[in-house]
Amino acid sequence: MKTRLVLLSASVLILSASILLPPSAEAQRSGRSGGGGGRTSGGGSRTAQSRPRANQGHVPTAPAARSNPGEPRQAEHLSTGHVNDMPHVNHNQWFGHEQPNDARFHMDKPFSHGRFAHLGPTFRYRVTRFDANRHRFWFSNGSFEVATWDWPLCADWCWDCGEDFVVYDDPDHPGWNMLYNVHTGVYVHVQYMGA
Ligand SMILES: [Zn+2]
Repeated sequence: MKTRLVLLSASVLILSASILLPPSAEAQRSGRSGGGGGRTSGGGSRTAQSRPRANQGHVPTAPAARSNPGEPRQAEHLSTGHVNDMPHVNHNQWFGHEQPNDARFHMDKPFSHGRFAHLGPTFRYRVTRFDANRHRFWFSNGSFEVATWDWPLCADWCWDCGEDFVVYDDPDHPGWNMLYNVHTGVYVHVQYMGA
């Protein structure tokens, strides 16, 4: 009986850990489609894209703008009682987005390098070049820099695993884009640096 209890506790612990831990780069890699070679500009070829593993298997719709500039970030309260406060999307809801008037996002000249054109769930991208030291990455049609404070969230992503990325306009922080990982479900703030 005691052994049984111990085993039960152990499995509960494992379950809790898997819920609490943020989706890892390993999760991103696990369903990686072999080879591929899909094209990225203009959305890429559907056949070469693997099914998203986050957000119930769908690339989310764009986040809606919040009308209250002081609205605090919203955490996801799971049915297990756990709270997930990290920036991520589930059931098309964008959780963990910093409040609109967060001073870190203020730019005197938003979009000073122009605007990235192909946004939203229709366009999935593959990273063609990556510079971890400068927090920079490139698609075939543009480059971006990750916000310093968001960098720890994406530093261990598998940046060359495939067409795993979608870019959205940030409706609350003018000048910023949101880079979404279709497999981990996590998003980070990025700034467009030009083609
Ligand atoms: Zn934002």
